[in-house]
This record gives sequence, structure tokens and C-alpha cells, in this order.
Amino acid sequence: MCMEKTPWEQAVDFHGHACPGLALGFKAAEAAIRALGQVRDTDEEIIAIVENDSCAVDAIQLILGCTAGKGNMIFRNNGKQVYTVGRRKDDKAVRISLKYETMSAAGTDETREEKMSRILNAGVDELFDIKEVSIDLPRKAAVFKSLKCARCGEGVMEPKARIRDGEPVCPDCFEDYTRGW
Ligand SMILES: [Zn+2]
Ligand SMILES: [Zn+2]
Repeated sequence: MCMEKTPWEQAVDFHGHACPGLALGFKAAEAAIRALGQVRDTDEEIIAIVENDSCAVDAIQLILGCTAGKGNMIFRNNGKQVYTVGRRKDDKAVRISLKYETMSAAGTDETREEKMSRILNAGVDELFDIKEVSIDLPRKAAVFKSLKCARCGEGVMEPKARIRDGEPVCPDCFEDYTRGW
């Protein structure tokens, strides 16, 4: 018998372990889905702006399909549990910020396991402040041509290339150059 894994189980597989941070991201994704409707991203239509680099981000990537590689997950690392999720179709976006009390109020004797199940079993409104916002969503990831670095010979995307003696060099080589290689 083949049982399909639940979304939570898939998130745990992807992340590598079950933890309270992953649970938070999972619930933030749930809040985004509730606010925006079906949002599983197929073609970069959904953008997630994440303000931390914690375990939670993996759940956002798995559940919403917003990934660093596709360019529709944007890191603005402010060290905050805040997720802004929007869709390009109509620029509708929702800002999901963790209530401070969610992580602090439940007492210090709570184990990680207890914290995780408390988060998973809570309603999203208990955990987060959720509000609609209007933001300018970044356009689709541009595809840039690659130039050959005149020094190391590796390819570098055009916007990142610098010019040295009239030839393109990659940022690493340019840095060496400015230090007087
Ligand atoms: Zn984790
Ligand atoms: Zn180079």
C-alpha cells in the first residue's frame, strides 16, 4: 500500500528533521495559502520575501514552491520571522509576521517537541499577525548572458562583471585586482 506523504512529512523530508522552526514556516505557508488561495507556484507567479535564514524558510520553499534558484524567494535577512507572500497576477500580497508571544510566552520548560506540536496545532491567527499589503513585486528573474572573465576564464553573468583594462572580469578577480594582484 502506498500512502502519500502529508505536506508536513514532505517538508520534514526536505528539511532533514522536524523542528519548531520548520513548523513555523509551515504555518506561515498555510497562512499565505489561506490569504491568497491556491498558491503552489508553477511559473514564478508567487513571490516570497523572507526576512530570516532559519529552518522555517525550507517549509516556505517546499509548500509554496518559492525557491532561491527560481528567484522567486527573496532574502531580506532582518533576523525577523516575517514573510511577505504575493502573486504577480494582481500584485496581491500578504505580510505574515510572527507574534512575539508565540515563541516566548509558553514558558521555559517547554521541550522542542512540545513547542513544535503547539505550533502545528495552533490556528494561524494565533501565531501570526497577518495583513494585506501592497508592494511592488519584483519582476521575473531575468536571464543574463554570461561573459568570460579575462583573468580566471570562468563565466560570469553580465550584470556582475566588472571592467578591467577594457576587458570583463568576475567580481572575485576584480577584488584581487583592486588589492593589487
Ligand atoms: Zn530545523
Ligand atoms: Zn575571474
